[in-house]
Amino acid sequence: MQPGAHTDILSSMEETDKKPEISWFRKKYGITVGDLPPTIAYFSAEFGIHESLKIYSGGLGILAGDHLKSASDLGLPLVAVGLFYHQGYFNQSINESGHQEEVYLDNEPKKIPIEQCTDDVKKPLCIIIPINKDLVSAYIWKVQVGRVSLYLLDSNHEANKPEYRAITDTLYGGDKEKRLCQEMVLGIGGVRALQALGYNNCIYHMNEGHSAFLVLEVIRSLMNTKNYSFKEAKTACARLCTFTTHTPVPAGHDTFNEKLIEDHFVEYLKELGISLNEFMALGKINESDPQENFNMTVCALRSAQFCNGVSKLHGKTSRQMWMKLFPEKTEDQVPIISITNGVHHPTWMGRPMQELLNKHLTPEWTKNPAEFASRSTIETIPDESFSKVRVKMKEALMQYIEKTHNLILNPEYLTIGFARRFATYKRAGLLLQDSEQLLKLLTNTEHPLQIIYAGKAHPKDAKGKMLIHMITSFIKEHNLKTKMIFLENYDISMAKFLVAGVDMWLNNPLRPQEASGTSGMKVAFNGGLNASISDGWWEEAYNGKNGWIIGTPKEYKTIEEQNKEEAKSIYTLLETQILPLYYNQASAFPHTWISMNKEALASVCHYFSTHRMIQEYCDKAYVPLMKEVTKVCHSREGGNPETKFNKTGSPPSRE
Ligand SMILES: *Cc1c(COP(=O)(O)O)cnc(C)c1O
Repeated sequence: MQPGAHTDILSSMEETDKKPEISWFRKKYGITVGDLPPTIAYFSAEFGIHESLKIYSGGLGILAGDHLKSASDLGLPLVAVGLFYHQGYFNQSINESGHQEEVYLDNEPKKIPIEQCTDDVKKPLCIIIPINKDLVSAYIWKVQVGRVSLYLLDSNHEANKPEYRAITDTLYGGDKEKRLCQEMVLGIGGVRALQALGYNNCIYHMNEGHSAFLVLEVIRSLMNTKNYSFKEAKTACARLCTFTTHTPVPAGHDTFNEKLIEDHFVEYLKELGISLNEFMALGKINESDPQENFNMTVCALRSAQFCNGVSKLHGKTSRQMWMKLFPEKTEDQVPIISITNGVHHPTWMGRPMQELLNKHLTPEWTKNPAEFASRSTIETIPDESFSKVRVKMKEALMQYIEKTHNLILNPEYLTIGFARRFATYKRAGLLLQDSEQLLKLLTNTEHPLQIIYAGKAHPKDAKGKMLIHMITSFIKEHNLKTKMIFLENYDISMAKFLVAGVDMWLNNPLRPQEASGTSGMKVAFNGGLNASISDGWWEEAYNGKNGWIIGTPKEYKTIEEQNKEEAKSIYTLLETQILPLYYNQASAFPHTWISMNKEALASVCHYFSTHRMIQEYCDKAYVPLMKEVTKVCHSREGGNPETKFNKTGSPPSRE
């Protein structure tokens, strides 16, 4: 084990080392010792907790990681379930000709803070998932994230055929069939793993549709233990489930055709005792359409009592998108609410900024930023001290870049950051739309500017890879090595330096496709400024004093026209507002800029942390479901769920 890695995970958890005190959760909901509340089981295909554990690809995973960290800080009875990808997500390098290359490195259990789950006699725990006509075995690993246990399933088991051993080898790798198998292991295997580990009283949170098969296993378990019919069990299951959707475009949702489902679920359907048609109906909008594929999001929406999008705008987009699932309801009545994302502030705020706030605010600010990091308290920090901290974090970024990439930037210059997955809707190439305009800005010696890019394109996303090549070749062609750089292998550790050290963060997605976005929040938590399309979180956060809006949120006839106009809006903003303001050094330093920095911090602290987000999930979903679970699971007329399963969680018929 790398001792460093382990301590880092813990050191980002503010309260972990201290003696247990009465947690926020217990205080608020009055759950007393001896009272065993149901466990919240949080399922996600990826988790971004620390750079040493490469089981994340981007924002979805980071959000899941931050969810666990805040749940730990606030004392929620929560466990998490994911997959242990042996090779995780790829490491990125940029070759001589400026193209992305992918290298997969093993997540070696011995070198990362992870341990295998065992039974009473120290034998590795193993669960069984029926896939095709076979029984696939999976081990369970545990990562401790503060007080929260994260369980990861691993199909690399000696008893499995090679193709099954490979199910959990990489994140988002492989074809449809592999994705289906991964999602069977995550959903069905995940519920079985929880039972094998003794979590018999759970409510379930599906973070995105990947884990939606979990409802099948919950239904099956309710049918077995309570003699419910499929229909009754389905209704009861919904009362245990909450679902968060993240994808505002129809093409972004996992779907599987009937043949694929039939082949892979042939054995499982027998266990469930339902027909293929009944099964397919769960994942279709129009149940009687034989052509329609099984859609994981539809399955989750149909099977969860609470559903939400991840920003106000995304909630609305989702209600529009899924109206057809609720034909009797008007758009406003579609039962998808919104809970805006946040970030775990102790993870993403640079040390110097945390120390500054520790000095000027009451110590409670980390535990409850909404209350104790208010605008009025942040205003009491002297501009000079604030500015010093900003400079310190910027210099740390420049040193990091020099050390890791051997590139030298100037800490005096206005520094723009753009780093995230290179998915096409995020338009990483927008600034290059008019290369003449961009070059003019980059070569201006009176108001110098430097730009840092970073991000991975999915190995199969040719367009995303093209964008990387476009940026790297633009740099080469115009010899911009000291003005515009592309940092290879974006990950959590690089992100921490970037979000703390840049002056301005650029975010220019195609509205409304950025469901929330969280990287800009991390920047604002460090006092950095955002220039962003009015999409996702920024539509809620922008207040005229904490950054800039790019373009206007309107409909365009073509994407070309939209790209052109929005790129122009960025050039104009930079030239007429951002650069002059930054270089307005009439006094010792730019007071207006600093006041915007402080405003950025004040306007995110009170709202955009995962602490606030978790509190909302508790109020709106978890606690209402917990009250239901008492009704669903504690009525014992159908038998005790604990006694009907053996250690492996497989059904009695297979013992
Ligand atoms: C925060 C974060 C993201 C998410 O960025 P968005 O701009 O919200 O898409 C992706 N990757 C890493 C490493 C991050 O830290």
